[in-house]
Amino acid sequence: MKDRKFPLRVLVLCAVVALALGLSSWGFLVHRTLHQVAVYQLPNEIQPFFWRHMDYLVNNAARPDVRRNSDSTEATKHFIDLEAYGPDAAHKMPLDWNKAQAKYQRDSLLKYGYVPYHIVLMMDQLTGAFRQQKADSILFYAADLGHYIGDANVPLHTTLNYDGQLTNQKGLHSLWESFIPEIEIETYQLNSGHQARYLRNPAKQVWQQIRAAHALVPSMLALETKVSAGFTDAEKYRVQVRRGVETKQYTLAFAKAYAAALKPSINQQLLASANLIADCWYTAWVNAGKPALNLQGWTTEKAAVWEKEKSAYQKNTLIQEGLLLAKKPSENKPTE
Ligand SMILES: [Zn+2]
Repeated sequence: MKDRKFPLRVLVLCAVVALALGLSSWGFLVHRTLHQVAVYQLPNEIQPFFWRHMDYLVNNAARPDVRRNSDSTEATKHFIDLEAYGPDAAHKMPLDWNKAQAKYQRDSLLKYGYVPYHIVLMMDQLTGAFRQQKADSILFYAADLGHYIGDANVPLHTTLNYDGQLTNQKGLHSLWESFIPEIEIETYQLNSGHQARYLRNPAKQVWQQIRAAHALVPSMLALETKVSAGFTDAEKYRVQVRRGVETKQYTLAFAKAYAAALKPSINQQLLASANLIADCWYTAWVNAGKPALNLQGWTTEKAAVWEKEKSAYQKNTLIQEGLLLAKKPSENKPTE
């Protein structure tokens, strides 16, 4: 009977909602956190510039996800379905975009995702912006680059089974990258001790991290099955009907149990993302010839606040001290 009350139109809407929620990348909270954490890892030559613009970097950390709503070419920049490129593609795909196009055809790359190549393109853009010393462009590309790097470190962004949909585990995507970080972030270590380092071959490092993320997929799936065995459907899911649309969400109890089983892999991927973002920002600046960055208006007062924040970051007390921007309500929305 219930089914009859849900015409096709409503079911389609459900699918659209699931698509919008389920296939985003790291939730906004994590994307924003990554950018803030990456800033603290930069060397003193460039950290004040990035720190001064941290609001912009944090507020626009999720902008590429928003852009997907208006740009049909955007989505496949955020992932790579490795299985679609043949066995052991993670080790066999060329580092270079032109060689990849020659090997797989451009259409396939546009269909199954090409995040590692897009990261390299964004790095080139950032390097160019540094060369021209254009603050607006530097910040724009730094924000976008950071986003794609974050996505590349999410295991489900590297597989055809991107939402657990091929293994009857649909919904896993947003559970792993949004719901769990949102309820667990206060327990996370946000300071890995990493300091930005120069990457001689950024593409190589990007691929290394994509392989590491992809290697986590089997255990993510297996642990979900294992944890699910201890839950009934009613304990695992919360079904809500809003304006005639039925949505099914994981319960807090299930999310916590799954998080406990996964620990600390989400935190580790968060840190791996932030580390690579800092490395890529720094590398782009070095490759641009280490241009001086505009620090007009930098005062001793600002430097004192900066030092205080850095110390909170070192002690991993950003959240407790109310300094994690991603946890603050923001008036600024992504600009696209
Ligand atoms: Zn994304």
